[in-house]
Amino acid sequence: MKVREDIAELLKAGELTQIEIARRLGVDRATVRKTRKALGMPAPRLGQRPTHGSLEEAFRAHIEPGEDGHVWWTGYRERRSGLAIVLHRKERVPVPKLAFRLHYGRDAVGRITHACGERTCHAGAHLADDIIRAANRRADSAFERIFGGPP
Ligand SMILES: [Zn+2]
Repeated sequence: MKVREDIAELLKAGELTQIEIARRLGVDRATVRKTRKALGMPAPRLGQRPTHGSLEEAFRAHIEPGEDGHVWWTGYRERRSGLAIVLHRKERVPVPKLAFRLHYGRDAVGRITHACGERTCHAGAHLADDIIRAANRRADSAFERIFGGPP
């Protein structure tokens, strides 16, 4: 059979179920199923999104490195809030929370802010919590004591 590129692309992306792909492209479910078989891909479990081996894997599958060390999220966003969420089986974790934990090896304390100024950046090293902000303030005031404050 002739494989439709748009169907193949969405199947390979692994984000949508066959039913969702059929709906989005306005094609028959059978066409999506036949395309999947033609591509030699396994059947997704009924009513479930294709899943990754772990929460971290699900995170890493949906990030894209940008300039200056920024990291962009290409995965799921909550429709109303626009919040970036990592989905893995029954877990739903906000992307900044997980990115922070994976980078620093601990959970964030207090609010997570984007130290690089890019509100949609999810590079672990660009995120800060109460502890990091307090440490930065201490470093700044030590610097000012030694070298004088800003003019
Ligand atoms: Zn950044």
